[in-house]
Amino acid sequence: MEAPRRLKPYTRPQGERRGLLIVYTGDGKGKSTAAFGLALRAHGRGLKVRIFQFIKHGTARFGEHRAFALLGVPIEGLGDGFTWKSQDLEASARLAQEGWQRAKGAILSGAYDLVVLDEATYPLRYGWVSLGEFLGALKARPVHVHVVVTGRGTPEALVELADTVTEMRKVKHAFDQGVPAQRGIEH
Ligand code: ATP
Ligand code: MG
Repeated sequence: MEAPRRLKPYTRPQGERRGLLIVYTGDGKGKSTAAFGLALRAHGRGLKVRIFQFIKHGTARFGEHRAFALLGVPIEGLGDGFTWKSQDLEASARLAQEGWQRAKGAILSGAYDLVVLDEATYPLRYGWVSLGEFLGALKARPVHVHVVVTGRGTPEALVELADTVTEMRKVKHAFDQGVPAQRGIEH
């Protein structure tokens, strides 16, 4: 097994080079795609990137999965695809909890420079993943690890802990004019 790198516990701003906690939230379009853009930039700089998607199904083959597969950046869906419509909420909760344990392991291992937790705010809001445990893991992460969280309704405590928070505000969305999701743009 590869030895974990620089396993120093995370502390607040001190040096020039440190892992940031970045949040993309709000009701406008662009949260996940902003996170993917950052992942692309980081990959270009030789950072080790790993992406987890809390709602997307493990078998999803959307544009981002195809593109990151070409680049060799691991991206995995941890959810059941339609969590909020799920018939079996207990199963969804279990899935989210298992997914979170995987993501937490990746963050704490120090093996990645950037970990994306796409749509992680939803399991937090539904209480499927404990906010205390989530924040605890982020605080305990090795100092070099950047973490990006996306999703609507970010808990205030996560906003407070974060270094950079951007709120996407909907001015217009094509969906409201009845335009369906477009391949390559929405998925
Ligand atoms: P994207 O993945 O395009 O960056 P997002 O992550 O900001 O969007 P989510 O809240 O995760 O948006 O929504 C998931 C899906 O809903 C995406 O296909 C997105 O394009 C679409 N969407 C985002 N914002 C809106 C909105 N205000 N109204 C309707 N659909 C939206
Ligand atoms: Mg999204």
